Amino acid sequence: MNEETHDIVIVGCGMAGLAAALRATELGKSVCVLEKSPEKHRGGHTRFTESFRIPTAEIDLDVEFDVDDYSASDFYLDIMKVTNYRADEDRAERVANRSAETFEWLTGHGIDWEYQAPHSGYTAGRVWLHGEDFVDELVGILDDRDATIHYKTEAREIVRDDTGVVTGVEARVDGVLTRFTGEAVVLAAGDYGSSTEKRTRYYGPGYGNMKVRGSRYNTGEAVEATVDVGAKTDGEWGDAHMAIIDTGSPDVEGGITRIDGYQYGVIVNHDGERFVDEGEDSRAQTYAKFGRRIFEQPYHEAFIVVDSTVVDEVAHMGPSRPITGDSIRSLAQRLDIENVDATVETIEAFNAACDPGEFDPNRLDGNRTTGIDPRKSNWALPLDDPPYTGYPVTGGMTFGFGGVAISPDAEVLDTRDEPIPRLYAAGNSTGGLFYNNYPGGTGLTNAAVYGKIAAETAVRDIES
Ligand SMILES: Cc1cc2nc3c(=O)[nH]c(=O)nc-3n(C[C@H](O)[C@H](O)[C@H](O)COP(=O)(O)OP(=O)(O)OC[C@H]3O[C@@H](n4cnc5c(N)ncnc54)[C@H](O)[C@@H]3O)c2cc1C
Repeated sequence: MNEETHDIVIVGCGMAGLAAALRATELGKSVCVLEKSPEKHRGGHTRFTESFRIPTAEIDLDVEFDVDDYSASDFYLDIMKVTNYRADEDRAERVANRSAETFEWLTGHGIDWEYQAPHSGYTAGRVWLHGEDFVDELVGILDDRDATIHYKTEAREIVRDDTGVVTGVEARVDGVLTRFTGEAVVLAAGDYGSSTEKRTRYYGPGYGNMKVRGSRYNTGEAVEATVDVGAKTDGEWGDAHMAIIDTGSPDVEGGITRIDGYQYGVIVNHDGERFVDEGEDSRAQTYAKFGRRIFEQPYHEAFIVVDSTVVDEVAHMGPSRPITGDSIRSLAQRLDIENVDATVETIEAFNAACDPGEFDPNRLDGNRTTGIDPRKSNWALPLDDPPYTGYPVTGGMTFGFGGVAISPDAEVLDTRDEPIPRLYAAGNSTGGLFYNNYPGGTGLTNAAVYGKIAAETAVRDIES
């Protein structure tokens, strides 16, 4: 068998793996990154991202943010609130408290951010980026530091010796078995949601048909290999970030094809029924769970409907063209909604339940309905200003919430909650942070914060 040795072997070339590699080289270690995809597809889901959540109130840079008073404790509370307080508190606290420092560290390495949001309606601190360029920039920094990245290299086994210590990874390099040995291994191989079989296994029948927004390569084999050497699993394996996306999105690697702004209108299914409180919270706090609700409707499809008053608040990033109609009936017919009469009745009942004061798209404006179920808790304006616009939407697989268990220091835990010596994990390969829902912009921050922590803990253990 071919063999190669480095101080630290990192599996995965997304945000978590790249942050781990960068930090490890900074701490004087040689690293190699094993990446399953060919070079042109490198970057995993990170390649498709656009925002990085940070506590802007705690950043000491001379820039103007859209939201400048967002603190680490706001960030922590957002994670806890959207996960129904099930997120591991220590992990959530680390992500929130270390995000400013991690952002400044990346900025110090020359990462280029955008400071203004491309769309309206944000209520949390963020910076903006272009995922593919971001990955290129990080890989460029690693190339300058002589890190080795092996593409078309799929990790299939974690090597754990007779004394229990992890000593490397066995991978197929373009099919050829190679052993990568090292003093530590970092699992940063993303989630398993791009596997049709695993979506069916963990989410249920039909989920194999769900469109995959991100990388086709995140199919979970490296996570399974880690479980095979004794890692405990953690988190909500049966749930995932499933965003609201254009029904016309590609089946895989569609990227950013979301339709935002649904919170200012209504969402109906083919039966003409509403089924969520569209204005429950800001877009960033609801889009990841509403996608699943939409996928569970007939034909896995629903329709966002808005009128002229709010149409400019809709950010339409998908490939399909919006459909318009002079009345709700003609719009429903053009959208091919199966029950047009019920759609008209639902919108009439919704309009009668509204009694709005001043509309403010940039905060929870308190305009709520009365007497209908489900209610709409904010931005409840009657749809009475033609023409009306409709957007067919479905749920899009973003990433799974299950993974291996880690300590707050990124050590992989075994089923007795003891660290497996010299094995660390970060990003979406880990479970325990996201449950039920997800606060937008946090996946990347979690991966960066924990990739950096994983490298620091590995180096601490190597040198102790
Ligand atoms: C379309 C889309 C948009 C998103 N937008 C945002 C956003 O704007 N902000 C945000 O915070 N989050 C966003 N997310 C979520 C975000 O992408 C992830 O939370 C984050 O990128 C996770 O980073 P990671 O390093 O853990 O995984 P990834 O970036 O997915 O990287 C994992 C890597 O491991 C590789 N790999 C997998 N298995 C193996 C194996 N066996 N051997 C070797 N390599 C392997 C994969 O090919 C991949 O390159 C988005 C996700 C998608 C799909």
